[in-house]
Amino acid sequence: MAALKLHIDKISKKFGEINVLRDVSISVAAGELVTLLGPSGCGKSTLLRIIAGLERADQGHVFAGDKKLDDVAPKDRDLAFVFQSYALYPHLSVYDNIAAPLVMRELSSLERLPLLGTALPGAAGRYRSIDERVRETSAILKLDALLDRRPAALSGGQRQRVALGRAMVRAPRIFLMDEPLANLDAALRIHTRGEIARLHKKMGATTVFVTHDQAEAAAISDRVAVMFGGQVRQIAKPADLYRDPVDLEVARFLAQPF
Ligand code: ADP
Ligand code: MG
Repeated sequence: MAALKLHIDKISKKFGEINVLRDVSISVAAGELVTLLGPSGCGKSTLLRIIAGLERADQGHVFAGDKKLDDVAPKDRDLAFVFQSYALYPHLSVYDNIAAPLVMRELSSLERLPLLGTALPGAAGRYRSIDERVRETSAILKLDALLDRRPAALSGGQRQRVALGRAMVRAPRIFLMDEPLANLDAALRIHTRGEIARLHKKMGATTVFVTHDQAEAAAISDRVAVMFGGQVRQIAKPADLYRDPVDLEVARFLAQPF
């Protein structure tokens, strides 16, 4: 399926009296990876949650392709969200964790009720199309050898790959990732960000990636949107950002050791 252009149009959001987002506009081209980079509290997660439909903007709109998403329910938005804390189902194998979103879509609501109990394990085997998707996704993420394991028997990096697999398995046209590497140690973070970049090139899904780590942003992004206090200060390719920061605050932030 072709990637979708994502357009964030003049989004504003207040929590109480605080302007968390002020007139934020960003266009992400089909297949592009744009990173929201900025200090803690600048509004990155709120913007991502608005794109996902988990939070409503006070003003502005989000478009996917030509479609305005305002009234589209989160589950119908053709996007996948990867969080910093990737909650895997502890009692399910890697295989069943990755299969879960597809199985949920197939099962009737009655069957879905005991899902977190005993219905899910093995359910995927009833659907050959699901089995193929899970194996394809696992191969891309190099999880093939781990399919029978439970999350407790995996390393942090492996668990994060399972979380990515669970997001990828539905082949969403838009990917949203909120600091997905923040819980990993430094070496693994660098390794995994390389994997995400490779994966992005391979799949070509339109992606918004969030981080407060400048090096991470520079390493994986087509373009970086630098945010301060709920506003986008500059959007540029990483090299251009470092060469030509728009003001002193951006320059200082980029120069910070991480
Ligand atoms: P970031 O992801 O860049 O660290 P957030 O989007 O999480 O920033 O938060 C931006 C600001 O909005 C912060 O000041 C935060 O405390 C506030 N905020 C976020 N979510 C809520 C909420 N549900 N209710 C009230 N304030 C919130
Ligand atoms: Mg955040």
